[in-house]
Amino acid sequence: MSGTVALVVGAGEGRRFGGELPKQYSLLAGLPVMRRSLLAFLSHPEVTAVKAVIHPNHWDLYQDAARGLNLPDPVIGGAQRQVSVFRGLESLVADKPDKVLIHDAARPLLSGAVISRVLAALEDAPGAIPALAVADTLKRGDGKTISGTFERQGLWRAQTPQGFRFADILNAHRQMEGEELTDDAAVAERAGLVVAMVEGAEENFKVTQPGDLGRAELFFGAGDVRTGMGFDVHRFADGNQVMLCGINIAHDHGLEGHSDADVGLHALTDAILGAIGAGDIGSHFPPTDPQWKGVASDVFLRHAGELVKDGGGRISNLDVTLICEAPKIGPHRDAMRKRIAQILEIAEARIGVKATTTERLGFTGRGEGIAAQAVATVIF
Ligand code: MG
Repeated sequence: MSGTVALVVGAGEGRRFGGELPKQYSLLAGLPVMRRSLLAFLSHPEVTAVKAVIHPNHWDLYQDAARGLNLPDPVIGGAQRQVSVFRGLESLVADKPDKVLIHDAARPLLSGAVISRVLAALEDAPGAIPALAVADTLKRGDGKTISGTFERQGLWRAQTPQGFRFADILNAHRQMEGEELTDDAAVAERAGLVVAMVEGAEENFKVTQPGDLGRAELFFGAGDVRTGMGFDVHRFADGNQVMLCGINIAHDHGLEGHSDADVGLHALTDAILGAIGAGDIGSHFPPTDPQWKGVASDVFLRHAGELVKDGGGRISNLDVTLICEAPKIGPHRDAMRKRIAQILEIAEARIGVKATTTERLGFTGRGEGIAAQAVATVIF
């Protein structure tokens, strides 16, 4: 293999973190930290392969974090970071990549721009790291009393990914085996390699303390986006009106159902419940329970909306398609959007109502009933 391999190193126990999960498998905006780090490289056009180095006890956690990603088996790391990286590098010997990027799995906010800067610098140097100038004055002390002040000029904070020409860093690690150096640039420096510096990024910090995860969440301006879908069908029966998306429409049939049979609001309710993993309309309002007989379906929709709010989320948008030959939906579309907006107290612009026939095919085509499907996007 030529090309560039990224080694994502998360072989520590991750227990200092104090949480239920090791820090590299904690969820950050809904995804494990490890997965976010892997994805940063998988989505970079110059990276040809991505391989993780993990703790022996984290096999299942890793499988879960990497589910569905096209990755080779991870390498099992050692007790020190340097050992873990060395094992990762040795596992690539047969592949012979041109370049390797060594990254802390606990830096999940890595951007493609930082990766590109490191790779560009490797054109002129055997090693390159992202770094940030130290802005705070540095003190020496025991946490209670200062015993000295450092000159901060010329001091930098080293980040990852640290990039190297593969053969060079492999040799450096082989020479430095048994040391306990805390980053790969130090291994390279000790072996006499020139290591270039490129601009790092503040958000590319290492998740170390429990509070760091909350800090990292702040970078997800869009929040944790979840989608749900809903589908419902009601059969036509005798009658002279149907309730659709909260609007009463005169028709030559009614709709059969335990409640008001509002197929549109039922599909929307299920979509919202689906987005928050809260079961379905039947589990909240069992059709066997007489108290829901004939009830207006806005009760169901409002309840689903409240569950979203209770969980700290908000509905970003809803979209429902009514499937029937008749009645005609177009003339009622605006009233339906308005009604749904009222029930959920969200803007009409966030609600789509559409209709289609099925070209006279199937049960909807034969006019036996109405179907509806809906999607909901919820943001936490
Ligand atoms: Mg229903």
